[in-house]
Amino acid sequence: MYSKNFETEAIRTQIERSEFLEHSSPLYLTSSFVFEDAEDMRASFAEEKERNIYSRFTNPNTSEFIEKICKMEGAEAGYAFATGMSAVFSTFAALLDSGDHIVSARSVFGSTHSLFTKFLPKWNITTSYFDVQKVEDIEGLIQPNTKILYAESPTNPAVDILDLEYLGKVAKKHNLLLVIDNCFATPYLQNPIKFGADLVIHSATKLIDGQGRVMGGVTVGGEDLIREIYLFSRNTGPALSPFNAWVLSKSLETLAVRVDKHCENALKVAEFLENHPKTKNVKYPFLKSHPQYAIAKKQMKLGGNVVAFEVEGGVAAGKKFLNSIKLCSLSANLGDTRTIVTHPASTTHAKLTEKDRQEVGITDGLVRVSVGLETIKDIIEDINQALG
Ligand SMILES: *Cc1c(COP(=O)(O)O)cnc(C)c1O
Repeated sequence: MYSKNFETEAIRTQIERSEFLEHSSPLYLTSSFVFEDAEDMRASFAEEKERNIYSRFTNPNTSEFIEKICKMEGAEAGYAFATGMSAVFSTFAALLDSGDHIVSARSVFGSTHSLFTKFLPKWNITTSYFDVQKVEDIEGLIQPNTKILYAESPTNPAVDILDLEYLGKVAKKHNLLLVIDNCFATPYLQNPIKFGADLVIHSATKLIDGQGRVMGGVTVGGEDLIREIYLFSRNTGPALSPFNAWVLSKSLETLAVRVDKHCENALKVAEFLENHPKTKNVKYPFLKSHPQYAIAKKQMKLGGNVVAFEVEGGVAAGKKFLNSIKLCSLSANLGDTRTIVTHPASTTHAKLTEKDRQEVGITDGLVRVSVGLETIKDIIEDINQALG
């Protein structure tokens, strides 16, 4: 599923060493690069040679980060962005024209949902939604102007799984671009391109950084599509900063070991919660009770680091659980070394009506745990005392 020498490529993919023969890649904090002479400058702008001109276009640190992600995802090319959302937005903005249509899973990241409902309609781009449990509805939503099929798997925050192979087949049959936000899985656990995705998007802010420090995003895929995304982005300016690229490229060196441990801890938390009398509907892709367990096993190496569950007693019980947490953090992030708990119904999704929340799989008692790397006994003890 993932490249056999994943760790080696994550560690040994490196930009050319400078004259100092540094072991670890240096940080190139420079906005621009110099030309040898007028002819060099002309040829560079004419793209007759591949070289760095200006860090909004390319930068050595950003190129190293992109090259690693491309190798990990089995992609030809990519472009790196300041945040995951700038990757999502720029991908749509570069590829869609006024009048185009998107078919998307209903359950997507909150800001992506806002993009579909509040902002893309300004440019006459519309979206139709399918329930993650009813992928057989997709074909009925496709219109002559549909251009993109979009989904995340696992989904945020309900941890549902979509069958990527099925999505790949539908996209191919109807000549749509399949775009997958692979943030929850990381390139280590799942490679959507193998199942027919044309483009893969990551928020690097989550498990790729993994230590809650920097923001970033990346889109990878076929050369031609990335070329369009690159030209749009080079002119509109959502580029990843070289400093963040340097941090993120270093983070990728430890992605495999970190994510292995995250998944091991998350499975233990999920098993503990499943056996607790005050919880219900515990959802983790690699629990046998997960509705899409077989699909998760088919397309993922391990189950990821996010566990969703319900506290008996609705919104009030969910809030009470959060107020009783001591060790874990109440924070809006996920994929950090530190375990984070959130209660979507009273926070990120509080503005939605109860019916709308239900549609994206958010019940009032739903709690999302992004399981970190603390000693597993301490994580479970904290959750246990908060449930009590
Ligand atoms: C966080 C997240 C994003 C957005 O990433 P940012 O780096 O916060 O802009 C997009 N998709 C998913 C699934 C996410 O979890």
